[in-house]
Amino acid sequence: MAYATTNPFTAEQVKVYPNATDAEIDAALDKAQAAYLSWRQTSFAERAKILQKAADILRRDSDSYSKLLTLEMGKLFSEAKAETELSAAIFEYYAKNAEALLVPEDLPVASKDEGRAKVIHQPLGILLAVEPWNFPFYQVARIIAPQLSAGNTIVLKHASNVPQSAEAMDRLMIEAGLPAGAFQNLFPTHAQVSRIIADHRVRGVALTGSEGAGAKVAAEAGTALKKCTMELGGADSFIVLEDADLEKAIKWAVFGRHWNAGQVCVSAKRMIVVDAVYDRFLKGYREGVSKLKMGDPMDPSTTLAPLSSQGAVDSLKQQVQGAVAAGAKMEEIPLEMPNAGSFFRPVILTDVGKDNPARREEFFGPVTLLFRAKDEADAIAIANDSPYGLGGSVFTKDEARGVRVAEQIETGMVYINHPTMVKADLPFGGVLRSGFGRELIGLGIKEFVNHKLIDVVDIDAPF
Ligand code: NAP
Repeated sequence: MAYATTNPFTAEQVKVYPNATDAEIDAALDKAQAAYLSWRQTSFAERAKILQKAADILRRDSDSYSKLLTLEMGKLFSEAKAETELSAAIFEYYAKNAEALLVPEDLPVASKDEGRAKVIHQPLGILLAVEPWNFPFYQVARIIAPQLSAGNTIVLKHASNVPQSAEAMDRLMIEAGLPAGAFQNLFPTHAQVSRIIADHRVRGVALTGSEGAGAKVAAEAGTALKKCTMELGGADSFIVLEDADLEKAIKWAVFGRHWNAGQVCVSAKRMIVVDAVYDRFLKGYREGVSKLKMGDPMDPSTTLAPLSSQGAVDSLKQQVQGAVAAGAKMEEIPLEMPNAGSFFRPVILTDVGKDNPARREEFFGPVTLLFRAKDEADAIAIANDSPYGLGGSVFTKDEARGVRVAEQIETGMVYINHPTMVKADLPFGGVLRSGFGRELIGLGIKEFVNHKLIDVVDIDAPF
């Protein structure tokens, strides 16, 4: 397994990186530990300055950072720019809020005999971040901004197809003034990831990726008795009720399924539409998808990017074939497709029966599973008939009804009248096979801190 940049639009292999050696991994952990010992003593104000600087640099050099994202994983340049800005916003959020989020908490105890008790939040040490390619900066920002703010240090294992983005994050933090060793990108093999997790100085593991990687890495963290968070796959439901603003719901459905070429953990992967508006929805949705334009992701008129690799195209095709073999009906939207590049024509799958394995799979690309629900209750039942529990949406003009439905959906996030959003100041995470733990806001920063009780007790107080 080597780290390499292959342009998904041209299929050209641009740059290959060798894997790290064991000696390099050990030296990086030595550096990370040395950095931790002083970084944990650094004031919040000092840390905030560095994080704000990182945000400022990302904004100043937004075009060059964003081009890297498009080069390595093929996303539209406009989407890359939005990702760079979102990453900057996350750095800025923690620059402004980390100290307040980790302020010691006085505990309201029942009797003064229990002492003056407070909980303080202290860093743990070195963390390992294992990250996916679909948002090469945002995923990294989501873990390093809070955890560097908290006083931890981090080693990164990024996905093997985005090595230049990984290096760019490394350079960014150095330019922002982060002490050497506090954040380091490595190019480890999977076996070396195990070695890092087992190292006694590594105190936690945060993984974003597929269920398979999550299960393996979480098992290793469990064996080593280390805290981990898992941000895994999803199959978000996009429920459209009969009282929805159908035209706008359709517009969001087309966007929600196809942004980032459909390669988002919170893409609207399962459209669940009540019978009363199903036919109108399907007609409008098909028309909306037909207007997408595949092409050069750097061209502003392109609206559907290539997938991240030819391998991704091949495995998605196979998955669709499997769904059809198990009884689903497939409709391919006949978009014009460039001759080269890892493009995939959008597909709508209907009649995905209860026994069809596709019903429980994540389709990571422009494949829509469309379900006809009898009514609201049936829509909720279909939404919850999934091993995943990440995000989801409910479209209705009745906001109170939307909230009632949202409360019944078993996921970590539900949006009314909008596809699942990604923002710097909203929490992110799921339940079930979508993983555990939360990233962003106060929930994220508190995942890898020691919530330490300190209690000052009168020496004569009874036990
Ligand atoms: P992936 O294959 O699981 O890879 C994710 C990361 O894990 C990569 O760095 C990968 O490295 C590493 N990895 C994979 N197997 C490993 C192993 N056995 N030991 C150590 N490291 C291992 O996932 P992906 O294809 O890059 O990303 C797509 C998946 O991520 C989808 O399921 C998507 O829904 C999910 N995702 C979830 C969230 C969320 O917040 N919940 C956000 C984005 C994406 P290599 O590249 O070297 O294999």
